[in-house]
Amino acid sequence: MALHDKISSCLLGGGGLETLSTFWSRYRVHFPDHPLFRDHGHHLQFCLPLLMHADEGRYLKREQLLIMSWQSMIGEGTRPQRDYRSEADCRETQGLNFKGSSYRTRFLLATLLSLHYRKKNRDGDRLKNLLNAVVDDFLEFYRAGVEVVFQGTRIKFYGILLNLKGDWPMLSKLGNLKQHFGRKTKGGAPTEQSAICHLCRAGCAGYPYHEFEINAKWYETYLQRRPWSTPSPFMRLPMPAAPELFFCFDMFHVTHKGVLAELTVALLDMGLFVPGDIPTRLDKIYDDLKSFCRTSGVSLHLTRLTRQLVGLKDDSCYPSGTWFKGADTAAICKFVEHTFGQLTAPAGFELYCECIHLAAEASNTVLSCMYTSGLWLRPMEASAIARHSLCFARRFRECSELAFQMEKCRFRITPKYHAYVHLTHAVIQQLGNLVDEVLENDTPAILNPLSYSCQLDEDYIGSIAMLSRTTTTGHVHEGTMNRYLVTLQREW
Ligand SMILES: [Zn+2]
Repeated sequence: MALHDKISSCLLGGGGLETLSTFWSRYRVHFPDHPLFRDHGHHLQFCLPLLMHADEGRYLKREQLLIMSWQSMIGEGTRPQRDYRSEADCRETQGLNFKGSSYRTRFLLATLLSLHYRKKNRDGDRLKNLLNAVVDDFLEFYRAGVEVVFQGTRIKFYGILLNLKGDWPMLSKLGNLKQHFGRKTKGGAPTEQSAICHLCRAGCAGYPYHEFEINAKWYETYLQRRPWSTPSPFMRLPMPAAPELFFCFDMFHVTHKGVLAELTVALLDMGLFVPGDIPTRLDKIYDDLKSFCRTSGVSLHLTRLTRQLVGLKDDSCYPSGTWFKGADTAAICKFVEHTFGQLTAPAGFELYCECIHLAAEASNTVLSCMYTSGLWLRPMEASAIARHSLCFARRFRECSELAFQMEKCRFRITPKYHAYVHLTHAVIQQLGNLVDEVLENDTPAILNPLSYSCQLDEDYIGSIAMLSRTTTTGHVHEGTMNRYLVTLQREW
């Protein structure tokens, strides 16, 4: 990067060293106990805020490839931010790492075939060894730094790995988390072992995870006990007092592949008003959806709606959107808001339809506010996001309760709903850390929850996995890395 003069565009969102000073002065308000402020406090302008991402891509039919990469937390922003905000505003709020070729914003660290970590008897330690090697590299980057020439001057950059992002199963695997979504008890009473969240005891007896209010019982257990018995290799890195936060929930999986995918099935309830069997209704709904997207300029990847795509094997199961593209969830949510906003609800369904409309409206406002904002939210934006997020949480739960009363299988409250509430509370908490002057001047100061989103990383995983499928069997790891380097050269 230094040799090709790419450090600014690849790691600093196009800015200079002042970008890093600004980043850390804001970060310090929320995480003052991070050891980096003790170890590197005198030269924060040389410290790079980094994230690591890990996920599996498909290698062969029954084999997955674990792909690990790293990236800067600072990027060139999102397209809506660039379209709707002034240049000065974009500079002040800094950018999320969403724009540009993923080859120039994400960097491959390692790959590992799933056979090496699924079959414990064979070489179960290989994943642990790989993680230890990765952590060793990050430790060296943290302590010794890397000397480069940047903008004509020889300086030393230090890499600070702040978080690991990925979907929930991956966080649990790499973090040795004993408390995760898989602990949810089916039918039986919750026990001490049924905590579904690594940040609190939600899911345990006495701590229902569907509570979202500020007085939710799980709130008093937030960050009160470690969610592992054996710490993962990542815990060798310098960590703040609450190392659980290193493993962060991802807004994309929690919304587009989570609560909003549950909400989109509200469109099945348009069946209340469209005659015919399920496939006929789905065809009609799809036609309306397509024409809504065309007239409102929303892109849609879906080519039709089927029972399978809405997860409706039979009438007794809880449907949920299972389409591949997360962006389609956002498009359908807009359609749901539009449709339920216009609907004259049949007698007895007024409250149900109103709740669906308000839930969709709130979630659309949250998404649009987050995507048009920078890496750092202004207090006004953060307050709006928190307010509408809580409104969504309330309305979604009401939808779920009303559906239950009507004996309809809809709007399941899944562990992702709880993760969504945590993301909301993080915004509220950060708002509470601000001094009056920042609030009065509406200075950007709250981390946008999208900074931990895996949306772009999903595409990256797809393209690295594709490279791996063109390698010779037996040389997948080395072959993928070689092909990656060739592609990197082309995209550079
Ligand atoms: Zn929790």
